[in-house]
Order: sequence, then C-alpha cells, then structure tokens
Amino acid sequence: MIRSNLTAIRDDIRQTALRCGRDPADIKLIAVSKRFPAEVMSQACAAGQFIFGENFIQEAAEKRALLGADVCLHFIGHLQSNKAKTAAEVCDVIETVDRFKIASALHRHLLAMNRTLEVLVQVNIGLDPKKSGILPEDTEQLLRQIAELSTLKVTGLMTITPLTEDCEQARPFFRKLRVLSEKMKERGLFATSRRVELSMGMSDDYRVAIEEGATLIRVGTAIFGHRPQTGEKSGSKT
Ligand SMILES: *Cc1c(COP(=O)(O)O)cnc(C)c1O
Repeated sequence: MIRSNLTAIRDDIRQTALRCGRDPADIKLIAVSKRFPAEVMSQACAAGQFIFGENFIQEAAEKRALLGADVCLHFIGHLQSNKAKTAAEVCDVIETVDRFKIASALHRHLLAMNRTLEVLVQVNIGLDPKKSGILPEDTEQLLRQIAELSTLKVTGLMTITPLTEDCEQARPFFRKLRVLSEKMKERGLFATSRRVELSMGMSDDYRVAIEEGATLIRVGTAIFGHRPQTGEKSGSKT
C-alpha cells in the first residue's frame, strides 16, 4: 500500500508540475511519518522514499537511532528551546525556526558540535492565533538576525496554512508565502545561491501548493493512511 501510494503521489507531482510549467525535479516529497513506527518508514525506504518529516524531537531521535544516516529527517513540529540540543544532533533540516531565541539556542549547540544546519523560517502566513510561526511583517528582521549566526543556513520559508474545507481556499496563503520569499530573496536574506525552498502543502492541498511554487511538500496521510493516536499500536493497517 505504501509503495503504491508513493507511486501515485509521485505521478501526481509530476503531472501537476508539468501542467503548470515547472520542472518536476524541483519538487521534493517529504513523507510525514509522525506517530508511525520506524518499520513503516523502512517500507517507504524500500520504495525509494528517504526524506521524512517528524513533529516530535524524542520520536525523531528514536527513529534516527533505528534508521541511521540513510534517512533525511526534516523537523516540522513546534520546537522548544530545551529540545534544541537533541534537534541539532538528530535532524538534517529544521523547518520551524520562528523566533530568535530558538535560533540562538540551536547556534550555541551547533558551535559546540562544530556543525552547520540547514533551517527554514516558519511564517504564520494566515495570521492564525492558534498556529506558530513569525508574522509576515517580522520575517525580514528575523532573517537578518539569523544571518549573523554562522552555523545556521536559512534556505527558505515554511508555512502551515489555516484549516480550510476546500483546498482552493489555501491558494492565497501559498501565494503570499511565495511573494514574501521572493521579496526576501531580492534582499539577499537567504543563505543559498540555488532556488529558495518553499515548504507548503499537505495531503489535501499539495497540488495547489505546487501550482503556487512549493519546492517541499509534506504529505502524511496520503502515503501512510490515518495516523495512529498516541498510545495506540499502529501502522500496518494502511
Ligand atoms: C502532520 C503534518 C503534515 C502532514 O499532514 P497530512 O494531512 O497527513 O498529509 C504536514 N505538515 C505538518 C507541519 C504536519 O504537522
């Protein structure tokens, strides 16, 4: 099931990209594996999927220990300062840097480890009081502050859009994030000469996100099926 879901989604990404004149190779699929056991991720690896998204640092650390360096782990959950050390140790990319305090905590630990880390800045593009992320108007200042931290390379922006009934309702938010990223790129605020990453779109709206410029889409349910509740044994029901 995981294999056929992945095949279907890869096809869909390709078709969607070609339809809107984009190179399918510019869109990376992140398989969101939160609350699924590592064996489920191994099945995805066997089907050629090596990039995963995780929301909880302890869970990411356990999966790193089980799966080793073959997998690329993107952290997409809310990050607390007291987890910054483990996050810096076990994640390949942290997509949810949204305040200077967390950036400087990561920097301190990375300096001690003599490492650099790719990060994205999470923007609350929908101005949703229930969501984390820096406000759009404060993004430039945060990017300027992080640029002073030698260990952090900001390669783009990430957003979680407000829940909508229809995926078309997410389109204006995706577009706003892309416009903001273009403005920030013009001002030289990203640590990349390549394209700027835009992490946006999930199972229900990734097509719209691709049409609006997403380079990273975060898909869980459409690959793995419904997530087990915390505490429930899980996984192979998909
Ligand atoms: C859980 C999660 C996803 C995946 O959502 P699905 O609807 O299962 O595809 C994507 N992004 C973030 C930040 C998440 O927490």
